[in-house]
Amino acid sequence: MEKGTTLLLGLPGVAVSRVERRDDGTRVVHLVTAGEYAGLCPRCGVVSTSHKEAVVTGPRDIPYGTDGLKLVWHKHRWRCRNIDCPLQTFTESIPQVPPRRRTTGRLRSAVAHAVACNRSVAEVAAENGVGWSTVQACVDEHTDQVLTEPAPTPVLGIDETRRGKPQWRLDPLTHRWVRVDRWDTGFVDLHGEQGLLGQAEGRTSATVTGWLALRSQTFREAIRYVVIDPAASYRAAITPDLLPNAQLVVDHFHLVRLANDTVTTVRRRVTWELRNRRGRKVDPEWANRRRLLTGRERLRPKAFAAMWNELLTHDPTGQILAAWIAKEELRTLLASARQQAAPHVIRARLHDFYAWCAGTDIPEVHKLAGTIDAWWPQTLLFLHTGLTNARTEGINRVVKSVGRRACGFRNPHNHRRRVRLVCTRRHRRASAIDRHAPC
Ligand SMILES: [Zn+2]
Repeated sequence: MEKGTTLLLGLPGVAVSRVERRDDGTRVVHLVTAGEYAGLCPRCGVVSTSHKEAVVTGPRDIPYGTDGLKLVWHKHRWRCRNIDCPLQTFTESIPQVPPRRRTTGRLRSAVAHAVACNRSVAEVAAENGVGWSTVQACVDEHTDQVLTEPAPTPVLGIDETRRGKPQWRLDPLTHRWVRVDRWDTGFVDLHGEQGLLGQAEGRTSATVTGWLALRSQTFREAIRYVVIDPAASYRAAITPDLLPNAQLVVDHFHLVRLANDTVTTVRRRVTWELRNRRGRKVDPEWANRRRLLTGRERLRPKAFAAMWNELLTHDPTGQILAAWIAKEELRTLLASARQQAAPHVIRARLHDFYAWCAGTDIPEVHKLAGTIDAWWPQTLLFLHTGLTNARTEGINRVVKSVGRRACGFRNPHNHRRRVRLVCTRRHRRASAIDRHAPC
């Protein structure tokens, strides 16, 4: 019977001597140290025969059953008789419960993995019947093991994420409310399985150069492509001095977003000019606002015809459709990456886009063409390589979710560590292995 309960508990190094149920319903498991650890000095490994006293401890373990188990470990304090050993006396310990620990290794591992799977520390602490600080200490320990210096990667993605909610502060000089957002810049491995490599506070050139400067020469030399949003500050940060072998690629989703923003800006301006008010449900351009932002190939023929005809009739300036066509010309150009188009096809599509933009007299469309022109080398490299920041955007969702789960962080350093822990693929692989490993 005793052998069976020991097997059921599955905690190596201790044996179950008996199990009792107390009046309040708690199930108490009484443990004794198993033979191989009885009297074993944890420092020098010599087995002592000089018994000092009996000690009872109650280590916390992972919950078992609906109401959990209470462990009572009857162990002994011994005198270490090895003259070379600095320990005078010691109590028995096992690998799962090292000296001065009051939790089992499997509990520490379970709570750390639960938090690393993006659950809040408070929630995991309550579920396992331990304190918040105990769980946080387990998470810190696990994070130190898992988060190591990032390994070199040939493709680095850089993107910004807002930390927390937008904040408004009263400017003492102008007495106006100004929006102050806190930004982090994320660095992502777009080639391997490392996920988020790190985050740095801010979104300026100095943020990027500061983070990269902390990496090894090997890491920096290994980078061949850096995928960024069309942000001048990020472009300025990537210099041959810092990353000698890197070429910049602009993320095409951000270019499409610029084109969509252009269409929306033109639509709003035209509504103001035509009706002297903002758009309403009855306005055809407002009713079609989502169709205007949907890719041409994703619009059903009926929806496309409705949008086209209504705007043709109700926008005498024709500016909204002109902006829409500019957006679609840009999308056609960017689709060359997916289609692996030949260089002459890319040149022809670029010409079509520029020619269309130049043929209109819409300032917003001219600005869009100017942006593409300013970013053409990086866009062309996207068309050749097909590299995108899509993975970075996926990680950004996790970053926001971590902040929400924790109900906000007071300490940005802890926030960034937790985000990286949750985003790191190595952690997820380790968790999967742990789940399948026997105790
Ligand atoms: Zn010793």
